[in-house]
Amino acid sequence: MTDHLARLNPAQRAAATAAAPVLVLAGAGSGKTETLIRRVAGLILGGEAPDRLLCITFTAKAAGEMRGRLLALLGPERTPRWVGTFHAVMARLLIEDGGGVPGLPRGFAILGQGDARELLMQAGGLRDAKAAGLLQEAVSLLKNGLVADPRRLPRSGAVARFEPEVLAQAAALLPAYQTALAGRQALDFDDLIARPVLAMQADPALAAHWSSRWAEILVDEYQDTNHAQHALVRLLAGQPGRVFAVGDDLQAIYGWRGADVGHIRRFRKDYKAAPAPLKLETNYRSTPTILRAANAVAAEDPEALPKLLRPADPAAPPGAAIVIREVPTPEDDGRAALAWVQALRRRLPELPWRECAVLVRAGFVAEPILAALRQASVPVRLVTDREPEPPKEVLATVAWLRLAMSRGDGGRWDPAADDAFRRACAFPARGIGGALFGRLREHAAAGGLALAQAVATLPATPKERQGLEAVLGVAGEIAAGVARRRLGPADALRLAAEASEIAERLAPGGRPGQAWAAMLQAAAEAGSVAAYCDGAALGAMPGEAEATDAVQVMTLHRAKGLEFDHVLLAGLEEGVWPHWQAEQQGAIAEERRLFYVGVTRARHTLQLGWVRQRRDWAGKPSRFLAEIPKALLQGAAAPRPSRAGTAPARPVTPPSQAETDRLVAEFAARQAARAARAAR
Ligand code: ATP
Ligand code: MG
Repeated sequence: MTDHLARLNPAQRAAATAAAPVLVLAGAGSGKTETLIRRVAGLILGGEAPDRLLCITFTAKAAGEMRGRLLALLGPERTPRWVGTFHAVMARLLIEDGGGVPGLPRGFAILGQGDARELLMQAGGLRDAKAAGLLQEAVSLLKNGLVADPRRLPRSGAVARFEPEVLAQAAALLPAYQTALAGRQALDFDDLIARPVLAMQADPALAAHWSSRWAEILVDEYQDTNHAQHALVRLLAGQPGRVFAVGDDLQAIYGWRGADVGHIRRFRKDYKAAPAPLKLETNYRSTPTILRAANAVAAEDPEALPKLLRPADPAAPPGAAIVIREVPTPEDDGRAALAWVQALRRRLPELPWRECAVLVRAGFVAEPILAALRQASVPVRLVTDREPEPPKEVLATVAWLRLAMSRGDGGRWDPAADDAFRRACAFPARGIGGALFGRLREHAAAGGLALAQAVATLPATPKERQGLEAVLGVAGEIAAGVARRRLGPADALRLAAEASEIAERLAPGGRPGQAWAAMLQAAAEAGSVAAYCDGAALGAMPGEAEATDAVQVMTLHRAKGLEFDHVLLAGLEEGVWPHWQAEQQGAIAEERRLFYVGVTRARHTLQLGWVRQRRDWAGKPSRFLAEIPKALLQGAAAPRPSRAGTAPARPVTPPSQAETDRLVAEFAARQAARAARAAR
């Protein structure tokens, strides 16, 4: 057996080596991501060209981690380049090989959410930013549904979130918005997927061309693909389907954005040659107590496909009981969270801060907790659904390095770095205006050249030429310095910062300085300058201050796929979690799956907190608390309002083996009954 598979259990190994098309449908912490990574390593060690594998992850952070793991297994030469989110890999494909997409501007810009909203407001003559935000989401839903007419939207939990008038208004606005984007030579995030899918659907030759680039498409978190992403995978995978997908229907939490868990359930309809979904039943992440809680929550899901989480070591001690903590006010919640972290650190002095995570359903729940932690000088890192982009100083420095490294041996510039060239021209500002850049674009497109390559032959005034050539000159200096001094990625970045004269703006202290420190640390782990540039091109950049060890405070949607030693789920009140709108929209099941995701992030201990009174509104404990078997709770504290404040710290009675078996059997019976009902 080859080494890279030695770590896997037999079911994982079978999955890692099965012939595509394959779907691995398995519970949290069962090693789906691990198996996917090992499969990639196996294919490459078996002789597959790294560039022929396309690995799609759900977040840029997950992509960064995956690339790091592959690097460790394969070394820099053999680590695949195409590891990224749907958006990132498609951005790269369009930049490198987007010629076949009608109307796609060369060197196009990609608008962030904020810029895109502004453009939408301009195009529609809108004033109210909040209303525009809602319209932007509706536009996004249409694009992800690949339709212009809301009546043709594919079924998903998201449609119910919008009033029909809002969807109609979004549809009416769409043409003007697309025209405005074209005017800016820009794509928004959703276009990165919708445009290529529509182009492939209209042009089978393009589909065949792109699809032939990859030997296999590997997709993590397949349960959360939306209509456009699903169509994209199908087009690229071809038939019978060069696709390896892993996912867990119980962790489908993006229905509100148009994801359809049906894609995972209907995998064999899409790929007729696929065997029945492969299962992994052993959980390597959590204590038996946490797994039993997760199984009990899962059993309440009316639609989930039957599956059970079992501890890898059946003889493992059950682990700490789960604590439900009830406090009177949000301020008390902050104090309690602080006490939780401090107690953990007292008990385990070696515990890194980052192994403690506070996960919340909504940002406002995190605020008093952040305040209390910060006041006590506990380092915290807040990760919200809208991950902030690194500051422009840092992005530009990375772009300078990418541009510098994009010149081939023959002296030709690579069009894959067109976006880096655009950014380098824009920062630090050198007066290279939009009109000049537009001419350069046209000139490059006419000659089929990289933007940087087209500078030499562009008809331009001496001053214009000077500006553009200065950029290329600096890039040349950086490239020469990297080569001569054989710099590693972090030093190469430092050189790029100095040569481009951005360095002075990256002084420690400010926001750019912090992000810069994180960027250097991430670069140091990249192995080689080329590997680093590849990752950066796919947007796998660390967020702010990721390099520092800190308690992680994040929304559930961000915590997907991650794991922590100790987890506190906060704000478990009716109306907050489940969210009050979920009831109206029939989305309670998705709220429960969020709870399941939260519970299954924890390795060792789990606390569940709820607040009796937020502002003038008296809370009730979340219904999900009652779904955790009492035997698993510390002091068997029932989640019922009481005067007691925090739950009593009575000694834990670990659930017995007999108790475990009984619960598991009960669970299996409930699942089987449900499956039988579903089959009728
Ligand atoms: P999620 O559904 O939360 O994304 P997952 O199924 O992707 O979970 P992984 O993150 O791949 O699970 O694995 C969970 C943990 O178990 C990781 O720490 C991983 O390193 C470990 N693990 C996976 N397989 C094995 C194995 N065969 N032996 C030991 N540890 C393993
Ligand atoms: Mg995973």
